[in-house]
Amino acid sequence: MADAPIITQEAFELDLQEIQGLLDARTRRMRFSPRLESDFHLYLRNRAIDTLKHGWWTIVLLYVAIGVSTFAEVHLLSYPLFRDGNLHVWCTVFLVEGVVIAGLLSLPWLPGLHSRYWIYTGFIALLAESSIIVATSAFPDPYFNQHSSYIVIFIIALIYGLGGLRFRPAVIGCSAGVLVSYVLISAFDLWLDWGFFCQYVLLANVVGMLLCYIQEHRDRIVFLQARLLELEKSKLNRFSLELNRLSREDVLTGLANRRQFNEVFQMEWDRAKRERQSLSLLFVDIDYFKLFNDSHGHLEGDRVLSEVGLAMKSVLRRPGDVAARYGGEEFVVLLPATPEGGALEVAVQVHEAIEAMDIPHSASLVAKWVTASVGVATLMPEPEMRSSQLIACADEALYAAKAAGRNCIVVADMSHRTSAPILV
Ligand code: GH3
Ligand code: MG
Ligand code: MG
Repeated sequence: MADAPIITQEAFELDLQEIQGLLDARTRRMRFSPRLESDFHLYLRNRAIDTLKHGWWTIVLLYVAIGVSTFAEVHLLSYPLFRDGNLHVWCTVFLVEGVVIAGLLSLPWLPGLHSRYWIYTGFIALLAESSIIVATSAFPDPYFNQHSSYIVIFIIALIYGLGGLRFRPAVIGCSAGVLVSYVLISAFDLWLDWGFFCQYVLLANVVGMLLCYIQEHRDRIVFLQARLLELEKSKLNRFSLELNRLSREDVLTGLANRRQFNEVFQMEWDRAKRERQSLSLLFVDIDYFKLFNDSHGHLEGDRVLSEVGLAMKSVLRRPGDVAARYGGEEFVVLLPATPEGGALEVAVQVHEAIEAMDIPHSASLVAKWVTASVGVATLMPEPEMRSSQLIACADEALYAAKAAGRNCIVVADMSHRTSAPILV
């Protein structure tokens, strides 16, 4: 299939409805809506070009085989080919058809002509058909004249079968071919058995057009089924992406949830260990949040949590930093490749961003607005260390911040495992 175009959700649904409707109806409709029709056009054109590009040798082989067999047949029958100009006509026919076939075979290698591919192939069909019909009449010998009509039928079958033509260009090109032949034969007053002409040219064309119609109808069904599969696949992909996002995101705050945090944390821990870099972790807990819920209600509490999420997002700017809801009213911030000083800076910014929300908290015992306590821990992981150590240290620091009166930041002293409040 041609590269799938990027389409909007609305167009996607419309396509899906149209395709399902068309497939259910199984009508013999030979036209879709403009966008689908243009995609189908591209699909068929690319396929026809591809077939010509890879199957050119079969056409050359057939061309040579027809040439050799017609020439040899005359010799085997010891028919006087070289009499009365038959040879000249034979050579001209063979050459003209050769030029027409060369034109057809060069199309795949001329990308500039691809946008009007059907016009050129229709025109080539016209040339091929009219030249072979006129040439047939040009044989001065009635035996050749009649005998070459079989070749005409064969060439017409090739045009419809191997040309990869669409129904419309095939009908237009080949009908025009018949018309042009008729005009030329009449104009040059060439010999023709019109009854026989109607039999072999018209019948071959009608059969060819019918086959083209059936083929294009089948192509349309195959295209619709392939497109339907593509749409269903992208729908499934979208669902699976959405599910994946939902399974990793906290619904209330839009931050990473604990599951995603655990994954990222383990990954960053391993990386820090490998690259001998420090890894920092902040634990952020809203002060007296139970009292907030009790006095302002749970809905208002939810709003606070979601605003805290926004405030944390606004503080983190480095791509590797991750803020997550650890549970309840407790948040974590993971800062890869960040030493203690940098982590403290971020902690101060988070702390200030929460205060700056300026949400009244009448029940709080430390301030009149919503505040948070923050525990900070930084480690450069040693080979024997476990990641839970960093979590335990940050949690201890948070506990110390609560014990120190809340609304403050405590940095864990990793060497002595003691913590002192830094900021109130
Ligand atoms: P501290 O200052 O010691 O942290 O006191 P606290 O009240 O904040 O801590 P505690 O652990 O006693 O209470 C946490 C409260 O957070 C309990 C619960 O009602 C509330 N909470 C947890 N998750 C949610 C939530 O999703 N929405 C709302 N509105 N409240 C929540
Ligand atoms: Mg709390
Ligand atoms: Mg808590």
